[in-house]
Amino acid sequence: MNANFTWSTTERGEKAILYNNYVYGLRRENQNGSLVYICTFKSCSRTITLKDNEIIKSNGTTDNHDPKLPENVQAVLSGLKRRVLTDINEPIGKIYEEEVKKFRRDNGSAGLIPIYSTWKTTLYNIRKTLLPPTPTLLSSITVPSDMYL
Ligand SMILES: [Zn+2]
Repeated sequence: MNANFTWSTTERGEKAILYNNYVYGLRRENQNGSLVYICTFKSCSRTITLKDNEIIKSNGTTDNHDPKLPENVQAVLSGLKRRVLTDINEPIGKIYEEEVKKFRRDNGSAGLIPIYSTWKTTLYNIRKTLLPPTPTLLSSITVPSDMYL
C-alpha cells in the first residue's frame, strides 16, 4: 500500500490528511487509538485508518472523482502543471522546487504542499502527453513499399 501522506487542513481549517491528492477529514477515533479519516468529497465514502501516524488500513476502492485540494495547494498544483507543459526543457524536480519556494515565500510555510513523490507521477504523466509515445529514430522508420512513388 502506498502509505505516503501529508498533513494538511480542510477548507474550514481543520486538521486533515492529504493522501494521493485527496483530502481526508477526521471521522472518528477508535477505542484502540486508531483514527478513521474520510474523504472530504461529497458522497465519497473512502476511508483510511491511521495509527501512530501510519496508514494501517484503507477501504480499498479508488477515489473516482477529481482530487479536491485546498485552494492554495490547488493553485500550486495548477502552476506546476502549467510549467511542466510550457518549460519543457526544465527538469520536473527543478520546477517543483522553484514553485514550492515561491509558495513558501508567499505563504510562510510549505507544510500543506504534498511531498514531491506524491505529485511526481502526476507531473510526469502530464509531461508525457507532450512527447511522442515512443522516441523514433528516423533511420528506424521503414516505409512500406506501396508508399514509394
Ligand atoms: Zn474520495
